[in-house]
Amino acid sequence: MRRSQRRIALLALSTLVGSILVTTGPAGADPTGSSAATGQSQPEDRESVRLVHIRLTGADMLDKVAAAGFDLEHGLRRVPNGIEGEAVVTAEQVTELTAMGVELLGDDAGFAWSNEADGGIGVGAASARAAQPANHDATVRVVRADWFTTKGQGFLYVEARTTEGQQADPIVEMQLENDSGKGTPFGFARTMSRFVDSGQYMFHRNLFKLDVRPNKIKLTSSTGGVATGAVSNWLEDAPPPLTANPSYKSDFVDGYRHPQQLYSRAKEIARQYPDIAEIVYLPNQTNGYQRKAQAQIGGTGQAAVVVTSAAWGHQGGNDITVDFVDRPDANLPLAVEVTGKAVRVLLATDASGAPTSTAAEVAEALRSRSAGLIDRAHPYRTNGGTGIVAPTVGPVALTDFLDQKRVGAPEGEVPRGPATIPVLRIGKHRDGTKPGVLIQAQDHAREWVPATTSLESAERLVHNYRSDRETKKIVENTDVFFILSNNPDGANYSFYNFASQRKNMTNHCPDASADPAQRNSWGVDLNRNYRVGSGHDGYAGGSTNCVSGTYQGPGELSEPESKNIIWLVEKYKNIKFMMSVHSNGGQLFWQPGAYIADGRITTPRPPLGDEAFYWQSAARILSQVKAHRETVVTPENVGGSSDVLYSSAGNVREDLYHTYGIYAFGWEVGGSVYNPATGDWQGGSFQPEWDGNPELVSGHAETMEYANGIMEMFRVAADWGRDNKNPTSQLVPGAGRYSGPVDVHFETSEPATIYYTTDGSRPTLESPRYAATEFREPGQVFHVTETTTFRWFSVDSAGNIEKNYDPTKNDKRNNYRTATIRIAKR
Ligand SMILES: [Zn+2]
Repeated sequence: MRRSQRRIALLALSTLVGSILVTTGPAGADPTGSSAATGQSQPEDRESVRLVHIRLTGADMLDKVAAAGFDLEHGLRRVPNGIEGEAVVTAEQVTELTAMGVELLGDDAGFAWSNEADGGIGVGAASARAAQPANHDATVRVVRADWFTTKGQGFLYVEARTTEGQQADPIVEMQLENDSGKGTPFGFARTMSRFVDSGQYMFHRNLFKLDVRPNKIKLTSSTGGVATGAVSNWLEDAPPPLTANPSYKSDFVDGYRHPQQLYSRAKEIARQYPDIAEIVYLPNQTNGYQRKAQAQIGGTGQAAVVVTSAAWGHQGGNDITVDFVDRPDANLPLAVEVTGKAVRVLLATDASGAPTSTAAEVAEALRSRSAGLIDRAHPYRTNGGTGIVAPTVGPVALTDFLDQKRVGAPEGEVPRGPATIPVLRIGKHRDGTKPGVLIQAQDHAREWVPATTSLESAERLVHNYRSDRETKKIVENTDVFFILSNNPDGANYSFYNFASQRKNMTNHCPDASADPAQRNSWGVDLNRNYRVGSGHDGYAGGSTNCVSGTYQGPGELSEPESKNIIWLVEKYKNIKFMMSVHSNGGQLFWQPGAYIADGRITTPRPPLGDEAFYWQSAARILSQVKAHRETVVTPENVGGSSDVLYSSAGNVREDLYHTYGIYAFGWEVGGSVYNPATGDWQGGSFQPEWDGNPELVSGHAETMEYANGIMEMFRVAADWGRDNKNPTSQLVPGAGRYSGPVDVHFETSEPATIYYTTDGSRPTLESPRYAATEFREPGQVFHVTETTTFRWFSVDSAGNIEKNYDPTKNDKRNNYRTATIRIAKR
């Protein structure tokens, strides 16, 4: 095992390690990341937006661009020279992005790693984790060194830290060398990329293309630090997938599904398999696929009046007409006539008979004198409405714009009005005794593959329950809750009107953003609407701007869709696992997922045992994804989402993990796949062609491979539920006499958290927790300089405690572990 050094005089040990858990105090924090930008132009209509590939220099630029209201989330990925991603923008916004320093990569830029090295000749040798020899003056540590292959190509991914990484002048550089197999010399020196986020040095990292598996790597910093480490395998040693069983049935979903189809199939499954499936209805209805009817009348700029019906469009709003009438007589007052659904505004005239009513005056008259037909009328955006309105040529019909179908929209009418979301619950024992797994898809409307991936997983459970032994074990030992689309209104808007819709259909916008040209930018980002690490508490990555792609809503849990998730996990307390399924980044996330930008203060990090359990589960899940067609989610894209990508304030995962202790994963399905023909990674999209190239970007292939991963997550949960085996742990090296200072660390038999003392007291759940040296690294090393007794116990992810010790009571047996390190007096 590689270990880093921490010089600690033992007298100070408890205080030092006791402060490892950084609890973040949200109150009074500076909401830097959520500042609203006003006057930001938005997509004018659905025809003029397009998807562009962009590169940003770093997180600071990302924060700035996101705060300005740009819609560029998902598919974002760190690259050696910054962050690449996709933005849904108008031509005008392209100009604004360029002015902010964002680089445009064109419409179909591949994702290329430039650093390559020929691994030379040699034989790959299996090994365990990267290792680092003890050296008290080490200033360089190996964080990860992972080898993986995809489609015949090998890759080495390295993360490394220098203790001087934050230093700005001069910046500390790091050189990486690798061997070409056991016993071969180091060579192929390359410079690593320094990764800085929100002003904080994170680590150095790179992905290298190699033809031969190295056995070891060597890192040298420009200040003289040296570290070597062994190379580990990433997803190379996976057991065969469920699909390897010839009787196992898969490939049920044959195209994209809109919410009506998803919900209808969910209900049908419950009817067809009543012994193992049922529907649970979520209590809070959505806003609905519906809008008020609108028109912009009277001219442009100061002369424009934005008119909005009181009734929803389909409930009469679309039948309303508004006419601005010019009358020939002089000195007439402004008047409003209402006949049925026809509203006639009789414009005021001056002494010469010319119209004199301003936009502000007409808006006021419509609000107060339209017999309740119009309840919102105001000047355009931030204008005062000082211009004289122009008479209309005839009555102007108000519209909710929902009948304007986009090209390629599915057949049929979309039901209007609030939706009730059904949850498809599958399990043989749905009585709360089995671990619950919540699969929540399509919080973001335009992400179509997460819905088909989740439906495919549900189909596999019910179709294979009677015929496949492994599936039967899943159904008998878990209690699965599928929300096949958690944003049905937005999803319908994505299918029928505006393909790039991300948010829900609730419009919280004030008048300045309420004109119909902004309709494609309204709504709340449901994955910014939760309570832990939220933008309302000053965390970065949520916006207060109602037309931003990451608008967090007017308050925490303001939206029915997010209220429903909390209702579900509070009602079904057996839910212990959750996967929030998104696309298309090729990433697997957990906590921490948000930070306060100033100082980069994250939400509390999971204890080492949870972190290890997340990594272990991730490797199982992603191995099964890889088994389908060799798609590799790379280790740089796995971990705490704010560590590897960006801060997303108020995301659902933080709330479920920190409030309810649920292991809450976030998944970005799809994303980059390696293309051997070009030698590059090729990015995915939100709505890849369903029958696209099955080796590259294809909705069908992504659905099948990621359904493999969801099925493995069920097996992780089933194993967790049946885990009644206590963990064991040890101090390494163990108790004994040492002639001088000695370095010790803990090891556990499985992912487990250790609580320990060194002051003679009994260890409890309030004792210091054994922590990582730094995030994404293994446990710390204690430099013991005088005789010390460690007392400890370990707890695994399922809650089993080593030796059945009871840390909550004064256990008379004192059945915890002890080890005394005796240091000879000099
Ligand atoms: Zn998403």
